[in-house]
Amino acid sequence: MMKISTLGSHCALQLLKSAKDEGFHTLLLSDRKRKGFYGRFKFIDEIIVVDKFEDIAREEIQDKFKDSILIPHGTLIAQVPLDKVERDLKIPIFGNKYLLRWEADRTLKEKLLLEAKLKVPKRFSSPDEIDSLVIVKLPGAEGGRGYFLAYNKESFERNLKNLIKRGIIKKEEEDKLYIQEYVLGTPVFLHYFYSPLKDELELISIDRRYETIVDSIGRIPATYQKNLDYPSYLVIGNFPLVLRESLLPEVYSMGEEFVKASKRLVGKGAIGPFCLEGVYNEKGEFICFEFSGRIVAGTNLFIDGSPYTWLNYDEPMSMGKRIAREIRRAIELKELDKILT
Ligand code: ADP
Repeated sequence: MMKISTLGSHCALQLLKSAKDEGFHTLLLSDRKRKGFYGRFKFIDEIIVVDKFEDIAREEIQDKFKDSILIPHGTLIAQVPLDKVERDLKIPIFGNKYLLRWEADRTLKEKLLLEAKLKVPKRFSSPDEIDSLVIVKLPGAEGGRGYFLAYNKESFERNLKNLIKRGIIKKEEEDKLYIQEYVLGTPVFLHYFYSPLKDELELISIDRRYETIVDSIGRIPATYQKNLDYPSYLVIGNFPLVLRESLLPEVYSMGEEFVKASKRLVGKGAIGPFCLEGVYNEKGEFICFEFSGRIVAGTNLFIDGSPYTWLNYDEPMSMGKRIAREIRRAIELKELDKILT
């Protein structure tokens, strides 16, 4: 029997429930703290405990996963160094693991988004250039940790100093900050699935995030809002979303352009789930500030299907289930090389 594995965080419950429903044996890599939590769920067949997720690259741990297919998610990028993922991990990964570097490195990320002809926010190469509202980001996918706003060099330096003092940003991270135009509009996260077996793109679902502190500002009077120099963007949860139907044709064409661009720049290109993350501005244009080259946690909302999957499937279809189906189909067709790296 084929096995599906993942790391114990992010969207592990969705992934392993779906894998189990599709007839796979399920395996979880958990840290010590969360073993008890994941032990509550009967669809997880085996839990392998490590001190830190990075240990997945150790040989004796890899041995335990060797006949499984590993589904990568945000925790793999955030907590396992990419060199280890690319070079040391021998466990077959569902999706294109080389795309993860393009997601984590902001310069590569921007290059791929531009290759896909997406509109992106303006980038500022130094704090001296800041002449409008900007959002300042740390590298990596850590759910908005340490993001702050600034509107000129002085506010940039003041906020940075403060965040370092509070231990939210480390001193050595200072050189890696990425300064980007803040786009005013409604944030939208588009969850796609590209099937290399069918050469077909599906829109699976859409969400928006619930972020602390930024989503809490409207709950306090304006006088107190004035004292908040840097709202944080830490993700706490997600809301489901449907778009105006007239926006959907463009949503599909943006996803298709992304798949084509990724094939031109990153080996096998996008495989399976990916997400375009952006803001619809006042003209209704989608300005894309991020992509994720793997499943995003916003898909957890739709474990029982979404309004979009319901149009194509006569059964509840989640992203996790779609992944498990693709793997099963690839096994039947003997085409696993098309979906694994
Ligand atoms: P991460 O990759 O760490 O999860 P994101 O880059 O997706 O974080 O951004 C976190 C949040 O910051 C988004 O949900 C959005 O609200 C906000 N954001 C990011 N970039 C911009 C931007 N250029 N303009 C406006 N808001 C932004």
